[in-house]
Amino acid sequence: MDPLQGSLQYLKGVGPRRAADLQRVGLSTIEDLLYRFPTRYEDRGHFQTIASLKPGVAASITGEVLSCGVRPTRRPRFKIFEMLVRDRTGSLRAIWFNQPFLNDVFRAHQRVILFGKLELTSHGLQMQGPQYELVEGVEADEGLEGIEGIDEAERDPSTVHTGRIVPIYEKTGQLTAKMQRTLVHQALQQLPPELPDPLPVDVRRRQHLIERRPALDAVHFPPADASIDELNRFRSTAHRRLIFEEFFLFQLGIVQRRRRADSERKGRAVVVTDEMRENIRKVLPFRLTNDQKTVIREIVTDMKRPQPMNRLLQGEVGCGKTIIALMAALVAMENGLQVAFMAPTEILAEQHFFNIRRLLEESRFRLTLLTGGTPARKRREILAELAGGSLHMVIGTHALVQEDVAFRELGLTIIDEQHRFGVLQRATLRAKGLHPDVLVMTATPIPRTLALTTYGDLDVSTMREMPPGRQPIATTVRPESRRGEIYQFVRQQVEAGRQAYIIYPLVEESAKVDLKAATEMADHLSQDVFPEYRVALLHGRMKQDAKDRVMGAFARNEFQILVSTTVVEVGVDVPNATVMVVEHAERFGLSQLHQLRGRVGRGAHKSHCVLLYQYPITDEGKQRLRALAETTDGFEIAERDLKLRGPGDFFGTRQSGMPTLRVGDLLRDHALMEEARREAVAALDDPSQAPALTSLVNTSWEQRFGLVGIG
Ligand code: ADP
Ligand code: MG
Repeated sequence: MDPLQGSLQYLKGVGPRRAADLQRVGLSTIEDLLYRFPTRYEDRGHFQTIASLKPGVAASITGEVLSCGVRPTRRPRFKIFEMLVRDRTGSLRAIWFNQPFLNDVFRAHQRVILFGKLELTSHGLQMQGPQYELVEGVEADEGLEGIEGIDEAERDPSTVHTGRIVPIYEKTGQLTAKMQRTLVHQALQQLPPELPDPLPVDVRRRQHLIERRPALDAVHFPPADASIDELNRFRSTAHRRLIFEEFFLFQLGIVQRRRRADSERKGRAVVVTDEMRENIRKVLPFRLTNDQKTVIREIVTDMKRPQPMNRLLQGEVGCGKTIIALMAALVAMENGLQVAFMAPTEILAEQHFFNIRRLLEESRFRLTLLTGGTPARKRREILAELAGGSLHMVIGTHALVQEDVAFRELGLTIIDEQHRFGVLQRATLRAKGLHPDVLVMTATPIPRTLALTTYGDLDVSTMREMPPGRQPIATTVRPESRRGEIYQFVRQQVEAGRQAYIIYPLVEESAKVDLKAATEMADHLSQDVFPEYRVALLHGRMKQDAKDRVMGAFARNEFQILVSTTVVEVGVDVPNATVMVVEHAERFGLSQLHQLRGRVGRGAHKSHCVLLYQYPITDEGKQRLRALAETTDGFEIAERDLKLRGPGDFFGTRQSGMPTLRVGDLLRDHALMEEARREAVAALDDPSQAPALTSLVNTSWEQRFGLVGIG
């Protein structure tokens, strides 16, 4: 049996009760314990002489106990354990509060090592509650030199808590840092010198990784010559080896899952004839950019294969993803297949619908809009037509997949602004036994780091090029006290024939209050500030047709200023709008702000984004706004967002398919993840290795990485 799978209960010092405590914090096996790494390391290995100690600094000293004992205080039940230690250069007092058991630990003439912070008190310099260690096997009468002179080679190897580079663990439940340190030490002593290693030998060699057993030793109890700095950055050779191990196992599973899916699922293979090509070209309103051409080629190549496509199309706001979706849809429809096009909001679904309907006016394909706002009778008709196959394309919100919509032959599902949905929609489709081609589109680029993990089984297409004639958007950050200037600027722009958005955030918990604020603001703007222009208000609680009327009128420049809650966030396309003012910008996330900014800069005119913030604003909030002003590159913004918020928040929920990692960190260690991916693919391609590796990915794999039922 794998010695790492042994129960912690059989560890010295752990009985059934302690074992139950440990189990409660998720630690059952030796492996669980050893793969719970120190969060940091402290160098307690370099002893200072007592004479050289300074207040306010932490130090390690070693010396002989002169005297020790519990000292009563005036406060009942409050006891101080006091010790006097001496080295060659002087003596020092150490005290511990309420730890009378120390009476049984220490006695005079012992050699001890203490580590702690020095404080200057009325008794002189003293150490309060230091970490301690007894130096065993050195009798007092061997002379003090025997201890002070301890150098790296001679140091008693059995010291655990001091006198070395010491691992610091995060406390969890009943398990303190010190307890874990003791347990880990025990466990390592009981382990056999050789451990089974999941990493194939040549992977290890190629990656210059040390063996598993020494890595486990060193990650917990680093050798004396280890660099404390490397350790604390998780960059020691031991860290590298063990993090790589975790990533490699993870990627083995991801890559296998992808391959299995490819072989099991039967999709439809499309064909593309010259006639179809001609039909599709007729629909195009402009010349495609080079990136658009590349991407559509990638998509069609996928669609021609019998395995279902599973592709993520990421591209900056405004780079022209909609037309790509339409072209893919046309390929499917020309092949007699139906298309479902899903958007995160009704407004966006409608906009796609109106745009696409206009482009398809001359074609023989029939499409419809299906949202929560569709009346019941109309809805029933639509469902019947979809099931019968006389409707070729349905555009709607995600309700499309969640509800009982049946198709005659669904060939392609397009999901716009994917991260709002998560990966679950794909799972829902599959659960229904549908294996259409899936095209996921997002303007919030998935940082490369994450693309390798959550989206490890997605192919990724990227568009960086903007349609011709675009100018970069100028972004400024201002306190709201300077709103007057901003209005002046809006006026200039409108004067020049342009249009402006003014955005008010709706915070879920206080939506009512915020809505009132937005409404009042719209009134104020139209009556007091811009009486000469038309100001419209758009918000999420408006009836569908009212929203449509407002958006339509704004697109036709019947209104110059649109005050809106964030419903305008994604996808809305009014090229004449050149100003985006965001109120309470500190309340928005980076990606959201980037999306909002993307509503302007869509035409030939120079565009501007103004972020107004109010106090109080957190440091993180400030950083966010600064980041946004500094860059317009959506990829960089996504990476920064990820760094500011962490991967969990980036996608909102754990449901989104982020793996639970034990030792690695997606951000810190992303380069290793890429290596691991490469090695996993290569190893699985090698028939001499694949079988052994396949068996490493069993049912516990999904549980281990928290990915049950996703993807
Ligand atoms: P997004 O990628 O944000 O969804 P859209 O598809 O809404 O972007 O496109 C943004 C704007 O750019 C639209 O007005 C669209 O018609 C226009 N557009 C897209 N591709 C091109 C192109 N190749 N040439 C000119 N305009 C284009
Ligand atoms: Mg779009």
